[in-house]
Amino acid sequence: MEIAFRKITKEALNFELLSENIKFSGKVFRKSSDLVLLKADLVGQISHTCDRCGDELNLEINEPLEILLSDGIYKGEIDNLDVVEFYGGVIDFNEILQSEVEAVKSGYYYCGKCKN
Ligand SMILES: [Zn+2]
Repeated sequence: MEIAFRKITKEALNFELLSENIKFSGKVFRKSSDLVLLKADLVGQISHTCDRCGDELNLEINEPLEILLSDGIYKGEIDNLDVVEFYGGVIDFNEILQSEVEAVKSGYYYCGKCKN
């Protein structure tokens, strides 16, 4: 799913994206001439393996996200928010979803057996 930067105004634009067992939904609205603010929730399950024994486990996630999306290279000050740069004037929501899922997966998780 893609939305062009120029189509995003100060009026919130809602979006919803489903990928496997994850729902990524929220809104985007324009913050400045080259920045768009995304406020969304990542809700669902990610299959993962236990970092100790390798057993399969499902991670329940319910994460609020607030990310700045930059139309091209971001040059300004970052006020405690993640900034994702897009080139070509288009926001790729699948890419945001995938990178957030990867960020969750990069953590360490243990199955019920290994936790105890
Ligand atoms: Zn385990």
